[in-house]
Amino acid sequence: MPTFIFRMKPIQMVDTKTQYLKIKEEVDKGIFEVLESAQYIGGTKVNEFANALNTYHNSAYTITCANGTDALQIAMMALNLQPGDEVITPSFTYIATTEVVALLRLKPVFVEVDPKTFCISPEAVRKAITPKTKAIVPVHLYGHAAPMEEIMQIAQEYNLFVIEDNAQAIGSDYTFSNGATKKTATIGHIGCTSFYPSKNLGAYGDGGAIFTQDATLAEKLKMIANHGQKVRYMHDMVGCNSRLDAIQAAVLNVKLKQLDNYIEARRKAAAFYNNAFANHPKITTPFVASYCNHVYHQYTLILDGVNRDELAKYLAEKNIPSMIYYPVPGHKQKVFESFGLENYNLETTDWLTERVISLPMHTELEENQLQFITTEILNFINN
Ligand SMILES: *Cc1c(COP(=O)(O)O)cnc(C)c1O
Repeated sequence: MPTFIFRMKPIQMVDTKTQYLKIKEEVDKGIFEVLESAQYIGGTKVNEFANALNTYHNSAYTITCANGTDALQIAMMALNLQPGDEVITPSFTYIATTEVVALLRLKPVFVEVDPKTFCISPEAVRKAITPKTKAIVPVHLYGHAAPMEEIMQIAQEYNLFVIEDNAQAIGSDYTFSNGATKKTATIGHIGCTSFYPSKNLGAYGDGGAIFTQDATLAEKLKMIANHGQKVRYMHDMVGCNSRLDAIQAAVLNVKLKQLDNYIEARRKAAAFYNNAFANHPKITTPFVASYCNHVYHQYTLILDGVNRDELAKYLAEKNIPSMIYYPVPGHKQKVFESFGLENYNLETTDWLTERVISLPMHTELEENQLQFITTEILNFINN
């Protein structure tokens, strides 16, 4: 009897290597062009990418920078905020969103998310507004857009700035109630994104970008990212040094052309997962609000009545990676203890923190891998 050999590629949370091999020729060529041009800082590749990214987003202005955290910091520096001013953000997010608020001596005010979308709750934002509130930072978590139409409405009522954290949702479309459509990151006063390698548009190192539709803000953002200067050696304000590397721009120029294909591949993997877990009493698959289309930076389940740690251990034994994004929310982080964390009672955030689990999600998942992952998860949960 012939031996059956189960040929399956090792499963990874993110497989950037296989993705690279498919575009290797073009990427390598782009990188060598930078080396030969000796334009390591700025130059053609960076300008080309900034223009292409601007066009892709149908944005008025796009400013590239060194990473997504810098993008958020530069955005907040551009708003003339004063120490102690309050910035409303979800507690259920990556540290970068809230860390820059504290870094600039502003006060992060943590609010609840909607348990279906994992994104900031407009009702919670309204309740958190005080005379010191200056800005709202909605996060398009896991690739699902925050309810921007309601957030912008609140911002207008109270005269607040909105900075979108679009690090996880590049390429997502948002549809307003009048039928108009915009890319996330172009709805708020400023939008920020990241090109960290595992993000949906990932470089082979760090990178970030800032979007705005306002000419005055655009000029300021650009100056802040460049030591506060417009004319060389004439410094008008305190800025920082935050540049997109030319080699990374060369990589991103190639990958931006693939972004819509990459998103499609993620949606296909998500559809496989959704189908396998449909109507399971202990598993909630990702919800997609009618106003947006999910770009699945993460594929995150909510488990009910399942020992999550034991499941993760069982999967690890089968060489199936999984992750908890994020195990500790902002209002429980030591770094923020001076902000009166004992007064917070964010039940939904705590509830989600204990129940979410993210599965392998990237553009190179194969059907036999997805079949294996889903079968093993159901094996564990049903037995
Ligand atoms: C990745 C990420 C950032 C920061 O991006 P970096 O490029 O790593 O600095 C900010 N916010 C969220 C939600 C992220 O996922």
